[in-house]
Amino acid sequence: MTAPADTRTSDELIRAEEPVLAHNYHPLPVVVSRAEGAWVEDVEGRRYLDMLAGYSALNFGHRHPALIEAARDQLDRLTLTSRAFHNDRLAEFAERLAALTGQDMVLPMNTGAEAVESGIKVARKWAYEVKGVPADRATIVVAAGNFHGRTTTVVGFSTDETARSGFGPFTPGFRIVPYDDLAAVEAAVDETTAAVLIEPIQGEAGVIVPGEGYLAGVRELTRRAGCLFVADEIQSGLGRTGRTLAVEDEGVVPDVVLLGKALGGGIVPVSAVVGSREVLGVLRPGEHGSTFGGNPLAAAVGTAVVELLETGEFQRRAADLGVVLRDGLTELVGKGVVGFRSRGLWAGVDVDPALGTGRAISERLMREGILVKDTHGSTIRLAPPLTVTEDELRAALGSLEKVLAS
Ligand SMILES: *Cc1c(COP(=O)(O)O)cnc(C)c1O
Repeated sequence: MTAPADTRTSDELIRAEEPVLAHNYHPLPVVVSRAEGAWVEDVEGRRYLDMLAGYSALNFGHRHPALIEAARDQLDRLTLTSRAFHNDRLAEFAERLAALTGQDMVLPMNTGAEAVESGIKVARKWAYEVKGVPADRATIVVAAGNFHGRTTTVVGFSTDETARSGFGPFTPGFRIVPYDDLAAVEAAVDETTAAVLIEPIQGEAGVIVPGEGYLAGVRELTRRAGCLFVADEIQSGLGRTGRTLAVEDEGVVPDVVLLGKALGGGIVPVSAVVGSREVLGVLRPGEHGSTFGGNPLAAAVGTAVVELLETGEFQRRAADLGVVLRDGLTELVGKGVVGFRSRGLWAGVDVDPALGTGRAISERLMREGILVKDTHGSTIRLAPPLTVTEDELRAALGSLEKVLAS
């Protein structure tokens, strides 16, 4: 191991960022310098259990050996070609990702927001070319409380004022309806509708799990109305909920699935739009692209991620340990927890506001060696790596109990 080039302390590094780094985040005061599995270590050598896992970008833990090996091997051979040429890693990545998700085709991109933007473009093109919506009239139905990323089009249909205000004017063509309200979706859909775009579980909103029948209802309704169901599984997908995709809970196959975060194995940004041939088939050369999208390093890591998920082991762990998490949180209801929602290894926990904001609770947990992050107000999100052990998970729940009791 080489020593870190920067020998400053955590406090010094935090202070050094202030004048030179845009203030678009408010991180917890911990400076991580190395990590393995579910554990990270700060500059002073203090260890923390990572109960956030990069918002699900680290579903397989930090530096999973199989993913690191895939990346290393690829670094020694080929890293980037651009799509001006073919590369020898992309075909297998697309074949295996399509098979894993039960879809036909893959459009590789980099970040989640780009996958969402690409999904919007593809849905609109499909509406004009296949459905026959008059030019520039296509609409997309989205849900209040959504989080789909940070680009101008995407924040334009956010209902979070902090995320959108000051960034207009925005892209037209979006209709916002309440989440988990099938009748509202039905009322918003008409002959101009290209797609209904929703998260199967709303992550940033506080792990909001819709009522039984909602996802199946959206599937049925969109099929009947002749529009697309686009599922943003960037945070909910790839094992987090105990399934490969969260929509599988209701046996739903969307027309388009957006993936990101864990697809990059915690190593490089990898995202993708996966969908039917009818939809992704509308794109022709020159109509969409990305210099880095589908690069051989991303494809090699993405293929290794798919290979891990093909075993079913991580989905099983998330389902099994999800029971431990749910039972543990149930025990804490009335002991500082006022309510929670969970699915697999993913929970939004509403803490009694009298005990402090979600931020304050997160800082106290940090001092106990547990890293989590608040979402809104007094809600904290738990999303450990799917490699976390039962003992580690129970220890984290114990720390939460201790912090809430103090
Ligand atoms: C994180 C996230 C995105 C955006 O992904 P980035 O890689 O940060 O651009 C989009 N949709 C959902 C549901 C997310 O959780």
